[in-house]
Amino acid sequence: MNAHPLLSARGIRKTFGQFVALNNIDFDLPAGEKHALIGPNGAGKSTFIACIAGQLPGVEGTVLFKGDDITKATPVDLARQGIGRTFQISRAFLDMSVLENMTSAFVIANGAWASLRRSVLAEATDRGQTMLETVGLQHRAGTRVADLSLGDRKRLEFGMALANDPDLLLLDEPTAGMSIKERHHLMDLVASRIDETGKTLLFVEHDIDVVLKIATRVTVMVRGAILADGTPTEIAANEEVQAVYLGGHH
Ligand code: ADP
Ligand code: MG
Repeated sequence: MNAHPLLSARGIRKTFGQFVALNNIDFDLPAGEKHALIGPNGAGKSTFIACIAGQLPGVEGTVLFKGDDITKATPVDLARQGIGRTFQISRAFLDMSVLENMTSAFVIANGAWASLRRSVLAEATDRGQTMLETVGLQHRAGTRVADLSLGDRKRLEFGMALANDPDLLLLDEPTAGMSIKERHHLMDLVASRIDETGKTLLFVEHDIDVVLKIATRVTVMVRGAILADGTPTEIAANEEVQAVYLGGHH
């Protein structure tokens, strides 16, 4: 066990006007966890992920990653330091093929735009092809992204997030809108990839079955605060948590 956790957040507070979205969150994430963040709508899960990902101004408190203070770091800094997240593929890329999108993720990950030589592109294409196999999209390499099913598009976004080999991957509801079957497929893929590479995952997921299957640890947020954290078994047995989920708070 390392001396300090991979990620350590202290006193995280974020307000939107008068509204307190996150109220003094303390959170430690040891390396190797597949850590689920759950809680009712509006609990502050996405806000917390966005704070870690450097996407929100005016965050109070401190976030340490590998012992370095990343509280004020930009998303570009964070990508360089090993924090990855998925992005929705932007409109401009929808007419490009699956392989072209994956390849561009590797080009960007290498910071190679400035010197885009044939060799750089060839290598990125190779790595893109391998990543398509990893995420089960090799048969879609030539398909326009616009023509992909939602499930396949999410697989592609996941693969693109892996292009710069992040030590910590942040996923905010990666399975939103997917069928139960697709949801399990995607999250099984994510979990096995994290296990194989020894990386760390922090994810928000509303399907509690997926959470209990995939997560090694679970944090429950309610109204901007942490209600409970523990193993999936502990969380499933926690009466306060059950009350939140069954008591009609959302
Ligand atoms: P969750 O992801 O748990 O559903 P969010 O983190 O998205 O919750 O939102 C937490 C609360 O903060 C919600 O009440 C939401 O309306 C509010 N909120 C989030 N982002 C903003 C914003 N940019 N401006 C104002 N309020 C926001
Ligand atoms: Mg959210």
